[in-house]
Amino acid sequence: SSPHGRETGPGARLTVLAGPTAVGKGTVSADVRARYPEVWLSVSATTRRPRPGEIDGVHYHFVDDATFDHMVATGEFLEWAVVHGRNRYGTPRAAVLERLAEGTPALLEIDLAGARQVREAMPEARFVFLAPPSWDELVRRLVGRGTEDEEERERRLATARVELAAEAEFDHVIVNDEVHRATDELIRVMGARARAGSGV
Ligand code: 5GP
Repeated sequence: SSPHGRETGPGARLTVLAGPTAVGKGTVSADVRARYPEVWLSVSATTRRPRPGEIDGVHYHFVDDATFDHMVATGEFLEWAVVHGRNRYGTPRAAVLERLAEGTPALLEIDLAGARQVREAMPEARFVFLAPPSWDELVRRLVGRGTEDEEERERRLATARVELAAEAEFDHVIVNDEVHRATDELIRVMGARARAGSGV
């Protein structure tokens, strides 16, 4: 009944979460995983090296360049992009389609370029932009996590300025002022529910 045919297409249970660097997409996704097991989180393939504590097949499928090339060539990705001018990341299409076919609410945490590709492929999906409470707070979070050097931070902030302007392309904007609150709002947007006994 929506003007966009939103409840009817194959991607009706698909939600895409995007937003600028350091806004907390990873933290919100981890909170969804921990508190809302009903929701399936897509596991991306990436050419970047694992960080300490990251598990292959859980956080990412860590692949080499040749494997990623092959996956692109054989059309295995729903979307893929070079992120921060460095590594490639992509969403394996088959796993997403399987979950949607069984009616499971599915969440993709991807960059803006990827979100735009998904909108081309599945316009009936829900597109959510995670926004910082303010520009200063975004800078504080990026500096605070201490995972990038000065030059890389400047590069990411330049990208973030451009990306913040893309907010208007999204169906929903959620301000990540507090992680649990932002997660709960995302879950409502997804139309998902907490599973009994998940402590929510
Ligand atoms: P990180 O290397 O810190 O895990 O992720 C860096 C960025 O890559 C994040 O902004 C994240 O949203 C993005 N990203 C992760 N997986 C994918 C994906 O499958 N496709 C796209 N387009 N971006 C992704």
